[in-house]
Amino acid sequence: MTTLARAESRTPSKKAIDAKHVLIVESSSLIIQILEHFVGEHLSNYVVHFAKSFSEGCSLYEQHKDQIFAGLVNLNLPDAPDGEMVDHLLARDVPLIVLTGNYNDKKREQLLEQGVIDYVIKESRYSYEYALKLIKRLEMNQKVKILVAEDSLAQKDYIEALLKQHMYQVVTVDNGVEALAAIKQNPDISLLITDYDMPEMDGFSLTKALRREYTKAELIIIGLSAVENNTLSARFIKNGANDFLCKPFIQEELHCRITHNIEAQEHLNQIKEWAFRDPLTNLFNRRYLFGKGVEFHRAAKNEDGQLSIAIVDIDYFKKINDKYGHDAGDKVLIEVADILIEQIAPHSVVRMGGEEFCIVMQGLDNSEASALVDSARQKIESTPMGLQAPISVRVSAGVATVLGDTLDQQINAADALLYRAKENGRNQVVHE
Ligand code: GH3
Ligand code: MG
Ligand code: MG
Ligand code: MG
Repeated sequence: MTTLARAESRTPSKKAIDAKHVLIVESSSLIIQILEHFVGEHLSNYVVHFAKSFSEGCSLYEQHKDQIFAGLVNLNLPDAPDGEMVDHLLARDVPLIVLTGNYNDKKREQLLEQGVIDYVIKESRYSYEYALKLIKRLEMNQKVKILVAEDSLAQKDYIEALLKQHMYQVVTVDNGVEALAAIKQNPDISLLITDYDMPEMDGFSLTKALRREYTKAELIIIGLSAVENNTLSARFIKNGANDFLCKPFIQEELHCRITHNIEAQEHLNQIKEWAFRDPLTNLFNRRYLFGKGVEFHRAAKNEDGQLSIAIVDIDYFKKINDKYGHDAGDKVLIEVADILIEQIAPHSVVRMGGEEFCIVMQGLDNSEASALVDSARQKIESTPMGLQAPISVRVSAGVATVLGDTLDQQINAADALLYRAKENGRNQVVHE
């Protein structure tokens, strides 16, 4: 049974005492202004300290060193013109992103060799946004597990070190067979980087085997192919990889490809989540009901299981709108939804439309399901709701447990029982 916990989008985000701290050292007031804007947008859950000089940066670091998660530092400061701030923080193991006005290949190499996570050239507003998003990304990366399948020890160590620097969890294996086993053992692996040429099982066979079980959204696969064989990359994609990288690659390229693919996966998951939710109450919607609900119904029929459907409707809701206004009506819908979730969990609660809800309960008989719905009805009745003036709200419900030929038919049966509840005087649950 899927648990239908509600997303926490309506819970206000409070700045926890153990919030992560970020140290930004930049001397230009204009750039600080731009950064402050993007901090509000991307790092609202962090405590961000701004220093304008080397000495201020050092003292802020000393004050908050135990909580500092990462730093964003200008390479050249008036009192530290040769990157002393960068050296100071790197020596103290602070994950660091460097802002620089003058870029050249030598400087880039030097910075990366020193161990900075990334460098950002002060070119446009986008580069500042990139830097701050990267800090947030680092925190999220800690929850992302990546599998590296590569038989060359040097390559494997190199990739592992790069991934760990960006705070990913990393598992490494030497060939395709080991990769399949590692994925079985670690179901939380969300991304695979695989070499083509490996003993036992090569990257193509591995990709093909994995695609029989996992979609591109469930497991991201990035193929590694040597530049001298330029057809490999296309063949990787045709075999089901999400992306590929030609060896040798530079580290920024590896990170950009990974981030790009993870972000695409996150966006897809977010869109899926929205597609099945009602935006006002955050409950599941009809699209969910006629997908998942139909699955539950079919499973109950095939496995001789129990499935109860309740239709719950707010009594005289039109009068509530007329008397207290539409906004108060909306608030009532949200509060009724909250109580239903709280009382009925872990069963599914769906907003059918208007002030009507459908509850799908697996594994309960008719009287158990009715008792559960009635407990929610009582809780609603005893809870004043609305915006200012307390509104007393009542609901009626019908509960159908006899398995219909289709889910639709069973919903209609519950609807007919709801109609009887309304006829009998409302504020009650009628069951078969
Ligand atoms: P009954 O007890 O017979 O169910 O009466 P009722 O007034 O609850 O039922 P009716 O179907 O006459 O009215 C439902 C009302 O719900 C009418 C509609 O304006 C209102 N409504 C539907 N969706 C929303 C919404 O999203 N927000 C608000 N505030 N009102 C809504
Ligand atoms: Mg190889
Ligand atoms: Mg109604
Ligand atoms: Mg209605």
